Amino acid sequence: MPKICDQWYRDILRVLYQRRTVTRRGIIEATRLNVASVSHTLQHLLQCGTILKVGELQTSRGRKREVLTLNAEAWYFAVADLEGSRLRFALTNLIGDIRFLWEEDWEFGNKLNVERVINGIKTVIQNGRPEQYSQILAIGISHPGIMDKNGCITAVNLGWSDLSLAAEIEERFNIPVFLEEAHRSCVVAEHWLGAAKDVADCAYVIVGNGIGVGIFLGGHLVQGHDGIAGELGHLTVDLNADDKCNCGKRGCLEAIASSPNIVRQYLEKTGGDGEHPYGHRVLEVYEKARQGDAAAIVVLDRAARYLGLALSHLTNLFNPQLIVLGGDIIYGEDVLLPRIRDEVLRHALPKAAENVDIRVSNLGADILLKAAASLAFQNALESPTLLRKICSPISFELPAVKISGPRSVAAQKVPRSSRLRTPASAS
Ligand SMILES: [Zn+2]
Repeated sequence: MPKICDQWYRDILRVLYQRRTVTRRGIIEATRLNVASVSHTLQHLLQCGTILKVGELQTSRGRKREVLTLNAEAWYFAVADLEGSRLRFALTNLIGDIRFLWEEDWEFGNKLNVERVINGIKTVIQNGRPEQYSQILAIGISHPGIMDKNGCITAVNLGWSDLSLAAEIEERFNIPVFLEEAHRSCVVAEHWLGAAKDVADCAYVIVGNGIGVGIFLGGHLVQGHDGIAGELGHLTVDLNADDKCNCGKRGCLEAIASSPNIVRQYLEKTGGDGEHPYGHRVLEVYEKARQGDAAAIVVLDRAARYLGLALSHLTNLFNPQLIVLGGDIIYGEDVLLPRIRDEVLRHALPKAAENVDIRVSNLGADILLKAAASLAFQNALESPTLLRKICSPISFELPAVKISGPRSVAAQKVPRSSRLRTPASAS
């Protein structure tokens, strides 16, 4: 068989990942590779078990075409979402379906100890079946910080400064670790799995404990010179505002429209404890507004107004076709989105504003876990070592990987509020 080049593998695996099921003809059209290259590569991948035949399509001329798919259970990822008010960890299959989920409470605003992240990953790895354990390809993490070129993370919301998270986790598990800022990993997930499929110019705005934006322009992820593009939350939207941001400035979008700050303003207006505005209570503020609570309506109106203003700047600057909103805002679509759309129409250039589709994500609450898996898959394709692994014959031998680490973390205390979920389909 002629030599198969790595790029053919990458191109074909990407198409299979995005389309889920596709014919040989569909792969040739999507990759623009020649027929022989696609045939040789598919033959090898079928022999290895990396891809599977799942049926046949009858064409109008009576020909039969094989339908192919990725063998989703061939490889797994351990993933973590450190963005939300709960720490979430999962074992996912190759295409990001969650096979095992671990969640635990975390008091937003406190420093997050790296050992808790390591324990969460360990929990999902150890709770997989033996073959899953040995087939874990990589670890993917969505985090809310800023990562420098050396891979060190600074995250004010987690209390981290220049933390070499990937190195610490890789050393412990001996599995490659890929990190991405949450807003950017979400736009990747939307681009690969959600509403932004086949959309070259789109943005994903995450509105939760923080606010950030991931941007695809011309089909390429915008990173910025220092890798910190997308810090939408620290856009000054009100020069006269007293609202103090975690970054130290006043009047940042995040200081007005992030979930903890919505709760803070509501509590200040209603005489509650504005000093501890954390947890899940932003959903309660949404609910209060639905019931006609005047304070909730005023606070959410202000948040939506400034979110809309920020999105109008985004619309003018990048002229996206689609803006997807995710994070806590997916639960407040009815109380926030109409005002946001009005503000974009009011402040952005008419042509750009009228043509941009603004909607909430349909990938649900698991988007950051799926995003981390999606990111890990993409990075695995770019890594020659991992690509070779994916394209090698699959064996289901018992674990070769041993997790090293301090004995003291082996017996993890399971918090009462933790939740485990093993989908029936995984058994
Ligand atoms: Zn700020």
